[in-house]
This record gives sequence, structure tokens and C-alpha cells, in this order.
Amino acid sequence: PQAELQQEEIIYRSKLPDIYIPKHLPLHSYCFENLSNVASRPCLINGTTGKVYTYAEVELTARRVASGLKKLGIQQHHVIMLLLPNTPEFVLSFLGASFLGAIATTANPFFTPAEVSKQAKASNARLIITQAIYVEKVKEFAQDNDVKVICIDSAPEGCLHFSELIQADETDLPQVDIAPDDIVALPYSSGTTGLPKGVMLTHKGLITSVAQQVDGENPNLYFHTEDVILCTLPMFHVYALNSIMLCGLRAGAAILIMQKFEIGLLLELIQKYKVTIVPIVPPIVLAIAKSSETDKYDLSSVRVVKSGAAPLGKELEDAVRAKFPGAKLGQGYGMTEAGPVLAMCLGFAKEPFEIKSGTCGTVVRNAEMKIVDPDTGSSLPRNQAGEICIRGDQIMKGYLNDTDATARTIDKDGWLHTGDIGYIDDDDELFIVDRLKELIKYKGFQVAPAELEAMLIAHPDITDAAVVGMNDMAAGEVPVAFVVKSDKSEISEDEIKQYISKQVVFYKRISRVFFMEAIPKAPSGKILRKELRAKLANKNY
Ligand code: AMP
Repeated sequence: PQAELQQEEIIYRSKLPDIYIPKHLPLHSYCFENLSNVASRPCLINGTTGKVYTYAEVELTARRVASGLKKLGIQQHHVIMLLLPNTPEFVLSFLGASFLGAIATTANPFFTPAEVSKQAKASNARLIITQAIYVEKVKEFAQDNDVKVICIDSAPEGCLHFSELIQADETDLPQVDIAPDDIVALPYSSGTTGLPKGVMLTHKGLITSVAQQVDGENPNLYFHTEDVILCTLPMFHVYALNSIMLCGLRAGAAILIMQKFEIGLLLELIQKYKVTIVPIVPPIVLAIAKSSETDKYDLSSVRVVKSGAAPLGKELEDAVRAKFPGAKLGQGYGMTEAGPVLAMCLGFAKEPFEIKSGTCGTVVRNAEMKIVDPDTGSSLPRNQAGEICIRGDQIMKGYLNDTDATARTIDKDGWLHTGDIGYIDDDDELFIVDRLKELIKYKGFQVAPAELEAMLIAHPDITDAAVVGMNDMAAGEVPVAFVVKSDKSEISEDEIKQYISKQVVFYKRISRVFFMEAIPKAPSGKILRKELRAKLANKNY
């Protein structure tokens, strides 16, 4: 056989040394490893009511939740769904599932009933924890599938109240044998292509990701017990779930839970609770930068402002820096499938490095990154843009029940292909410059074109359709549709928009419809999205 000439791969690692990571522990044991030191410290602060839960209370209540779930028939490896806004009960339920060796699939409470049912069904959720106002959304699914519903705020007919769950005796919780590769969280993401899929995040994976951020002598993200971390980002998304909730718990810091984003309230809470860490997304950065109210509040307690989940422009970065003169402002780069954090600004480290404008950080410790030429697959040197790939124990185990999609995302050598285009400069800083994948990001929320295209094509007046993202000042991107009408159809742009609006959560609504004769496609049938995006850029529609 012919010997293959193997080119040596160009691999990038963190500037910081690797650290020890206790990957053998279950996630909750890892989070509470230092419990004796922080037992009486504030763990969760409910920003709406002011109620404070200490670390000891959170740990004990989570064990009671586990015991209560067990009583209701939930077993190890079973899936429960959290359909909740940011509330202490979200944290308690997530940790309770972990204690039991069960899995939490997290969903946006603003989802339509169809969207919730799809995820509940696909993940085989056996119990749903939600709020009374969302019970209607899950009623049919719960009845048809004999799924129990627990409400955190009251007990509408047919539902249990959360307080009943935590009446269970924690000593009834049996010893469960949790393996590092067991799944603990199952967020949904469309990844680089297709429909949303269950992302299997394991105990080992999440511990690795959290450790990469906050563990060790000079951690990437330096959280300490005196920190107060603002949690306005939704916990159902892995950014807040991991980088706020789990990192905050590991560090023994206080997590200030904000149920709903509102700029005035955000500023008020920062002042009232002397918030030190503000993790946000570009639309919130924009809201702060544009706010005329910031001068009215004392924001001097803030020492870190971290943006992630979508690109942040330099001007915006500078504008918000001016609002927090004493704070470090930098970015993190995550992707649900990557566990999620790939890179983090080293300006947040205990002994900080200088922060460059526009960078989304350097690769986290105990991980490898490479930049790959999308055409040839070869790894690229510094300052050349290509697809960002990551390898390490923090990445997902795979997509639930979808080995094909898993194999398309994680190659045989263990590299996860992100579908993002970026380069690494001479100082190891990563810059994201483009997106290869279909994904549209509205204010950091995922919109999967395939999901909207399937709905459009199901309409009798539509023969073919393609959805791409269009740049938008406020949202970053909004989904727009190119549509081929069926013969003699008179369907209008508004009718199509309304047809979609009825089926989807607000951020998946189609913002514009452009009619065309045929959708440009490659011979393989693949939509040529680049051509459509070029049409938008040139206003040629
Ligand atoms: P999600 O899985 O919802 O977290 O979305 C992941 C995607 O969001 C990434 O693959 C990127 O396309 C985008 N993203 C996340 N963080 C950043 C960032 N700091 N800058 C630019 N894009 C980002």
C-alpha cells in the first residue's frame, strides 16, 4: 500500500498551563466540593423577591428534589424537561436531576406548544417542571404521554406543586452510581445543519468545561466566593447554564437571578446587590451602551463584563467599556456542542493578560484548537482564516439518537467542527470572521433555517423555500425567506409571515419574504445560501 504523506497538524493550546480536573466526580459533587467552606454563604438570590438561598440550603433542597423525583417514578438516565424562566427552582431542579443520575432537557418557556412537544417527545421527557402560565403548552403532550407536570408557583388542575416535590426526605435517595460519561444535560441545538437535535452533555464534559473556566491557580475566568454574578441570560441556554450557574456554584459565588431582562431593573440590581460579574450578549451590550439611565446608578462594583453567544462589534465594545470604566470587558466564544466554551478572554484571569479589541479570547486550557481549510481539510497557520475545530473532554458526547449528525460534527480523530470561520493571531487570540453553517442567531438565540423551510414547504401554496439570516442592527440577524409560489397562487408576504408566526417562538418569525422563480441549488440539491446572502448584501431581491 502507498504510504500517505501526512502533514503535521498545526494545533493551538492555551497560554496557561493545563490543570488537574476531577472528571471522575458526578457534576453535583464537583459543584459542591467546597460546600463546607461556603455553606452559609449566599448561593442564589431571587432578584424578583429578594429571597436568598444559602449554599447549604441549595444543596439540601436539590437532594430533596432528587428524592421527590424518584418518588414520582423518575429513575437514573430518565429525562425531565425544565420549561422555566430564570428562577431558583430551575437551579434546584437541574441539580436534583443530577443527584438522581437523571438528565435535564432545557427548553424556552416562550416556545409554542408544538415546539415544546417536539422537544419533549424527541428527548422522551417523563416529567415537566414549569410555571402555571405555561401549563397549557404542555397539557396535551402530558396527557397523551402520561407525563407528570410540576408547577413551581401554584398547582393548576392535574399538576403537582414544587413544594410537594421538596417535601420528600433526602435520606430516601438511594446511592446512584454515576459514570463520568453519563448524560446530565440535554439542551437542543441545530449545530451546523438541519433541525434542532439533543446535545448530550455528560458529567465529565460539563465538569471539564467549568474547570477550564474557573479552576486552578490562574483560571481563565477568575470567579471567587465574594463575587455576585448577574444572571439575566436564560438558564435554559447553555451559556448561562454553564458559565453562570455551574461556574458560579463551583466558585461558591452568589448568583443573582433576574427573571426577565429589563434595562432599568438590570442597572438597579447591579447597584443594589453590588454585582461584580455581568455576563451578557451583544443586544444587552447595545441596550446598556444606548441607555441614558446608566449615570443614575452606581455601577462601580462591576469588575467583569463578558459578552458571548454572538459577534460583538468593536464600536459597541468601546461604547460599553466607557460605561464601566473600572471593569474588564471581553468576550467568550461558545457553542452548545462544544460544551460550550471554546475560548475565553484572558483579561479575566487572576493575573490578567492584556485585552485586544474584537478578539473572542484564547482557547481554554486542557483543550486543542485548530483552524482548518474548509476545502482541503488541512490545518492552517496563524493569521489565516478557516473553520474552527476543537478537541477535548468538554465537548458533547454526541447528538441524541443521531449518529449520522454526530459523525458529521465530530470527526474520527475527535475534532468537533464548529461551522465558524476564524483565525488565530500572533498572540494566540481567536477572531471569528464568518459563519460557514446555516445557523441564524437572533439576539444570541438559535434559529435553524431547516425548521422554517420545512414549515414553508408544507404550505400548499409554496413549492420551494430557503431561509437565511439578514443583518439587523438590534437583533444581529433576522430570518428572511426566499419563496417559490405554486402555480396560480396569490399568497402574500403577510400571509406567509402570519402562517409561520403561529407556529414558532417570537425570534424565529420571518422578517421579510422575497418571491423568486427558483431557489439556487447545487447539483446535490443543497441550497446555495451564499448566493442568497449575497442577494441580501447587494439588495438584489
Ligand atoms: P449556541 O450553540 O446557541 O451557543 O451557538 C453557537 C454559535 O454562536 C457559535 O458557533 C457562533 O456561531 C456563535 N457565537 C458564539 N459566541 C460568539 C462570539 N463571541 N462571537 C461570534 N459568534 C459567536
